[in-house]
Amino acid sequence: MTTENVNCLIIGSGPAGYTAAIYAARAGMKPVLYQGAQPGGQLTITTEVDNFPGYPDGVQGPQLMMDLEAQARRFGSDIRYGVVTDVDFSGYPHKAIVDEQHEITANVVIISTGASAKWLGLPSEMRLNGHGVSACAVCDGFFFRGHDVAIVGAGDTAAEEASYLANLCRKVYMLVRRGEMRASKFMQNRLKSLPNVEILWYTETEEILGEQEVTGIRVKNVTTGEERIIDVTGFFVAIGHKPNTGIFKPFIELDENGYILTEKGSSRTNVPGVFACGDAQDNIYRQAITAAGTGCMAALDAERFLAMKEVELHEVQTV
Ligand code: NDP
Repeated sequence: MTTENVNCLIIGSGPAGYTAAIYAARAGMKPVLYQGAQPGGQLTITTEVDNFPGYPDGVQGPQLMMDLEAQARRFGSDIRYGVVTDVDFSGYPHKAIVDEQHEITANVVIISTGASAKWLGLPSEMRLNGHGVSACAVCDGFFFRGHDVAIVGAGDTAAEEASYLANLCRKVYMLVRRGEMRASKFMQNRLKSLPNVEILWYTETEEILGEQEVTGIRVKNVTTGEERIIDVTGFFVAIGHKPNTGIFKPFIELDENGYILTEKGSSRTNVPGVFACGDAQDNIYRQAITAAGTGCMAALDAERFLAMKEVELHEVQTV
């Protein structure tokens, strides 16, 4: 096992991690960022991003992430391939293991490991991902203006995304696998008031149809066994997200869904010197721009923490 001491360790490379790196590097914190298993994060599997400020003509998701990475490198961020496979926040400085073979000690740690959308696991879903299949209505709904689409899920996210899509699309089929929804009553009532949303109860997706692009779906009523084909050009999956926070669980307080709990109005976790930003700690907004905003907060909070540590050290030395 090799060892190394760094000042500021950033774990994860979505908009939150890269923004934290930009701010940390500019503040002279010499950040070292490990990109994780999916360098660039969730945006690298989307196409056009039209809602990130600063791109009047839109930008491709992968390009946006390359731009953020280049901006972080410009100020001297040390951006590395590698997955942080374990951490130990029980002492100070904090410890992290990269790819099970390189131990890092860090004065501050910024967690920006994001979340991953859950998928149904159908082969056709993977094949048509980005070609009509999406896990983000707010990102991709715009491309289906005037079209008929389907969305699977029955929680608050699915309900919110279905009503978002209802504003854009001609018809929205909502596929609910049981006879009730998990979404709040308020959201359910809102959905029921939308004339172009049709809720299909007890309905599971068997297959997404289409060679190059989505042309329809084959669904099954699980109570009657009846199958039918619905013509849609967009298929949205909204069955929840899984925050990538498993390795932090022994040390960092998480909510019941695994999202990191931060102090209100800050990026501070329960462990001094460990900060969290982006989707790993946000199950409400989950946008690239909000992730970037919290990445900025984390770098500023980390900078303040280091400044306080220095004052403490100075006081100890002068006593
Ligand atoms: P949830 O876990 O709440 O809901 C997931 C939904 O997907 C469930 O209805 C579940 O069905 C369904 N589902 C899961 N797997 C499958 C599958 N294989 N096939 C079909 N359906 C499936 O996730 P959300 O992302 O909706 O919400 C996460 C959290 O974030 C919740 O606490 C929610 O309240 C919160 N949230 C709050 C918002 C707000 O306050 N504005 C907005 C969005 C989210 P089943 O019910 O049968 O298990």
